[in-house]
Amino acid sequence: MVTTSNPTLENIVALAKRRGFVFLTSEIYGGLANSYDYGPVGSSLLKNIRDAWWHTFIDKRPDMVGLDSAIMLRPETWVASGHVSSLVDPLVEDIITHKRYRADHLIESWLDQNHTSSSQNINLESFTIQDMADFISKNNITSPEGNPITEPKAFNLLFETQIGAVSGEKSIIYLRGETAQGIFSDFKNILDTTRVKIPFGVGQIGKSFRNEITTGQFIFRTLEFEQAEIEYFFNPDPKNGGSDWQQLFNSWKSDMWVFVTQDLGINPINLRWRKHSETERSHYSLDTYDLEYKYPFGFKELWGIAYRTDYDLSKHQEKSTHKLHFTDSVTNQSFIPHVIEPALGINRAFLMTLCDAYREDKLNNRVVLELKPQLAPYQVAVFPLLKNKPDLVSKAVAIRDQLLKSKSKLRVTYDDRGNIGKRYLSQDEIGTPFCVTVDFNTLDKDEVTIRDRSTTQQEKVSTTKLEHYLVEKCS
Ligand code: ATP
Repeated sequence: MVTTSNPTLENIVALAKRRGFVFLTSEIYGGLANSYDYGPVGSSLLKNIRDAWWHTFIDKRPDMVGLDSAIMLRPETWVASGHVSSLVDPLVEDIITHKRYRADHLIESWLDQNHTSSSQNINLESFTIQDMADFISKNNITSPEGNPITEPKAFNLLFETQIGAVSGEKSIIYLRGETAQGIFSDFKNILDTTRVKIPFGVGQIGKSFRNEITTGQFIFRTLEFEQAEIEYFFNPDPKNGGSDWQQLFNSWKSDMWVFVTQDLGINPINLRWRKHSETERSHYSLDTYDLEYKYPFGFKELWGIAYRTDYDLSKHQEKSTHKLHFTDSVTNQSFIPHVIEPALGINRAFLMTLCDAYREDKLNNRVVLELKPQLAPYQVAVFPLLKNKPDLVSKAVAIRDQLLKSKSKLRVTYDDRGNIGKRYLSQDEIGTPFCVTVDFNTLDKDEVTIRDRSTTQQEKVSTTKLEHYLVEKCS
């Protein structure tokens, strides 16, 4: 097969729309900035990524438990965690059109267009807001429309809303900006209701919300998005039975790498680690790395890992006045645990998976998604060879229903539109690894034709062995 990979963002957006992976939110009303819906096959791929994460990091580990905390927490949570003062982006405004942009993004595109030897050494990630203001003014950087812009100012990304019937100061509440704070505020409940022993982790998947200023990178940066976050609690004193944070940190980095390359099947050549500089690091972190993927618009953060120390639990202990200690039942030591936090964006994992799996097969004139069978929205598509032959149709429907009902939980679809070639092409574009055709052989000899997405090779398999064949290949 002669294939090319490395799609453009336009290729991915077009495929996502054409096949129902991703839609614009409220498209019939003109769409909503930085917001997307996941269509029939997109929601399945998203769920499969989510499930793979949960299975690997919660179900399969003896040292992890799960949680599903609320989106709206008591507002004190976000004051204590520092998000009310520190979850900010550098905002500038076009003086003429009043459109808003992120100052760092305008500087980044200015640097891309003005390659000089000195600009190559600039580390934008470490710029403070004042550094950005100075750089913009020194280089006369304008908005993309060419108009002057305002000085950058810190813009808080937390979404505010009101609770209850009465409006006013007291009713202000935030949509969570990260799922992590639900884990910290439930820490005591988790200790009281489970038998966790330190070191242990709590993981959860859920929606987070940020009033992002950017546009134009499809689902990479959206207003609402899903995070899969882990807080891994440990005793930071190796001399007293605790763990060495650096060792734990490295072992989490390696688990993250294995998940992305093996469970999600991503080519390691498109991945790299990037350490945060001191000025870039979040207010709560002592060390941070980003696992970056080479998206069509360059290497960007997929998954962050931060050493959050005891920052959050200490702040919540102070604000709530509840003791948030762990007491070791053997040594009787009582302390506030430290945490390492691997925080993944499920939507960024989804975009990465689409980009990495995208191939153009010039020989067969098709686009094919080389998704792992475990992640594919459908693992098998069943077709009757001809739509107008009732015997073939009823046999194909019976095979589909038998697969749907089987204990193996295969994800099965059915297609009888157009000709077989077109059906193959549409299944290739959504990444279905196997197509099963019911033809006259099936009626005579109880054999179906199975066509492999990746090789396009076909083979005959007896209907009695079909389920076993598919389960073997898809698990
Ligand atoms: P960025 O620097 O790209 O804004 P971040 O460092 O603020 O991301 P974290 O706070 O570390 O992000 O959140 C953990 C993960 O959540 C990120 O690695 C990313 O995958 C995801 N994420 C964060 N913000 C968004 C967003 N607006 N849209 C989609 N995913 C996001």
